[in-house]
Amino acid sequence: MADPLAPINPASGTKAGSEGASFVLDIGGTWTRASCWPLSAEEPIRMVRTPSRTNHPETPADQLIDQLVDLIVSMAPATKGSKVAISLGAALDHDRGVVYGSAPLWGDSATDVPISARLNARVPNVQWVVKNDVTAMLAAYRAVHSELDASKIAVVTVSSGIAARYDDPSSRIMPTDPAGLQGEIGHLPAVTNDLHLECACGVSDHVAAFASGPGIRAVAGAIAMRADPDVLAVSAVVLSPEEFERTFAAALDADDPFAHSVLREAVNPIADVFTYLLTTQPDIERIVMAGGVIESIGVHYRRAVLRRMRHRGVYHTSSSHPAWLESVIVLARSPQETSPLVGAAILAGADARRATWIQ
Ligand SMILES: [Zn+2]
Repeated sequence: MADPLAPINPASGTKAGSEGASFVLDIGGTWTRASCWPLSAEEPIRMVRTPSRTNHPETPADQLIDQLVDLIVSMAPATKGSKVAISLGAALDHDRGVVYGSAPLWGDSATDVPISARLNARVPNVQWVVKNDVTAMLAAYRAVHSELDASKIAVVTVSSGIAARYDDPSSRIMPTDPAGLQGEIGHLPAVTNDLHLECACGVSDHVAAFASGPGIRAVAGAIAMRADPDVLAVSAVVLSPEEFERTFAAALDADDPFAHSVLREAVNPIADVFTYLLTTQPDIERIVMAGGVIESIGVHYRRAVLRRMRHRGVYHTSSSHPAWLESVIVLARSPQETSPLVGAAILAGADARRATWIQ
């Protein structure tokens, strides 16, 4: 497997120098990463906190949007004629460069944000290419898995939000709905028992309200209210926002019963989404889970998903062919394998062979 972070070789058909992006950004709910392209070991990827609802819960959405545009303009070089590729963690219409919303970035704000137009207005001499982050992750994964060129695969990110993407391997086109969207599975209704949580988008009982990073902490808080005091007393999980992520991961590693009960409850809705996907599209050969939560607790997360799917999964097949589920539901092997920075550069033309990958 090629190293996706290795600089792409111009001799192999890449047009990075002439037609591709010279700078890439990946904007997530928590962090913004930026680098010159091609990536280079000599030049570390810059990381700054994103001006987002996740990081600044009290700041109004319109101010966060202004601050984000300011941040992008301040980080990207304004070299005349250059191209900047941006991977954005938001639901957006790729054709028009319009963002419909992003719970991690802007909470429940439903105002359309013409991000490409706003960047063009600020720095018209630069060509701004804005793509969804999961679309970019799928592009990066495709680029290092040529053995799957003929296979239908889906990439799912589990971080401050949740989303999925799949493409049509025969046409190389990513199907979209009339709004130019696909795979916003984090905002699908979650079938839950007696636990009800509000999604960051403002609607109750969405998948991300349970199975995302913030969702898992919300589930932990709700379960702690009704947990056996003896189990809770011996748990190493600390529920405060500052301590939860670290202590939860360590508790899972230590077979903490409370931590595992939380994770089982939290992943049920996303496991059900995978069940629906595989029930209606059994030709999906691989569902690749990636993102911040997976980097932290991926092995436990996958195990909990498979457990749910074995008990309440694809009718008949989950129990008769458990090895099939194990082969389809996989983890990204490293963050680089689904790097949004790499994917954004590819989608912006860094690799001519992939330039028609998305319309
Ligand atoms: Zn939602």
